[in-house]
Amino acid sequence: MSHPSACTESLDPRFDELVLFNAELELLAEGFRWLEGPVWFGDQRCLLVNDIPNNRTLRWSQQDGISTFLEPSAFANGQARDRQGRLIQCHHSSRCLTRLEYDGSITTLVEQAGGKRLNAPNDVVVKRDGSIWFSDPLYGLLTDFEGGRQCSEQPPALYRLDPDGGGITAVAQDFDGPNGLAFSADEQWLYVAETGAAGSTNPRQYIRRFQVSADGRSLSGGDLFHKISSGWADGLRCDERGNLWCSAADGVHVIGPDGVLLGKVLIPQRVSNLCFGDRFNSRLFICASTALYALFTNTRGAS
Ligand code: MG
Repeated sequence: MSHPSACTESLDPRFDELVLFNAELELLAEGFRWLEGPVWFGDQRCLLVNDIPNNRTLRWSQQDGISTFLEPSAFANGQARDRQGRLIQCHHSSRCLTRLEYDGSITTLVEQAGGKRLNAPNDVVVKRDGSIWFSDPLYGLLTDFEGGRQCSEQPPALYRLDPDGGGITAVAQDFDGPNGLAFSADEQWLYVAETGAAGSTNPRQYIRRFQVSADGRSLSGGDLFHKISSGWADGLRCDERGNLWCSAADGVHVIGPDGVLLGKVLIPQRVSNLCFGDRFNSRLFICASTALYALFTNTRGAS
């Protein structure tokens, strides 16, 4: 446990309204290999999170602590709930997205685009209209650690999956390595972490912002929104005020809607992903390499 003043760094007065003077950074659990894909289940009062190299999905609750939820998990990474509350998972080794049904069976939602296998779906969000948006970079195919080396059949892309059988559409393809993604609260913007292809001499490593079309089905723009200093962002979440909470090497960086770094939640390990949850959707859950942390904030996640 660390003192609150030691766990945040304010760089803009707007940041001071987002954090609480008396909320401490909490270490919830540790001993994992590489945590990813946090998603809050309010009705179950629990967080689901993936320990990718250990090929398992874990469940954390305040009452019960950590337990195994799904094992093996096909090296699941990003997760979200659909509009019916079902768990959506991205899988590295099976190169697909699945949905966990109410009866416990698992449905494969998509494993191909344009007649070719997906790479290694990385992160996923569900829009209010039920459409499923996910990134498909190569990372999960490159190492045995995160799912086993496999050959890519197509370039990285960002996809929209129609909930009503309308199929899969590439909404953006101009990527080195699309990673975490998050809609703004009004769903007018989609933020995507570009983490650059491994081995690239000049990798694009910054957060891009796309404008969502009026019908909610396509994107435009995609210019640089913010460059994390130093390094890159992975998972992202928006709050109700339009701020972007980003994973970074030294913790969580909070970026204003104008692209300005407002402040940091300092974490002693690299952060891969994060989400808001708990009773008021104001508790930030932080996946940090081998440990899971949490911090109560004074804002709420965009719902
Ligand atoms: Mg990711």
